[in-house]
Amino acid sequence: MRNICSKCNSFILRPMCALCLTDEVEAWLSQQKTSLVPKLKDHVMPLLERIRTQESQKCSFCLMETRYITCLYCYTKYVYDWLEQTDRELSKEFLEFFKDFLTKPKQVYA
Ligand SMILES: [Zn+2]
Ligand SMILES: [Zn+2]
Repeated sequence: MRNICSKCNSFILRPMCALCLTDEVEAWLSQQKTSLVPKLKDHVMPLLERIRTQESQKCSFCLMETRYITCLYCYTKYVYDWLEQTDRELSKEFLEFFKDFLTKPKQVYA
């Protein structure tokens, strides 16, 4: 199914691949705490495996065909949970910066 998040089944208005999302978070993190950037990558790897879909779809950001599409919420929530345990102060900054991403999407019931 296209434009449906493989993690939470919500409809994705603007599909964005996990690599683009990682770039966004990484750009932010490297300005906050560079030492956490490699750890972020380690943390994101298992998520990529989990969200990998059968069909590829186009990322609306980098325009690449990709199998790693997730909604903004699932991705940023996943990173947020990790950051909260790693660096509580920084997780508050993250929440503030990515609050639009962290708005829970409406679920689609097929
Ligand atoms: Zn989702
Ligand atoms: Zn992309």
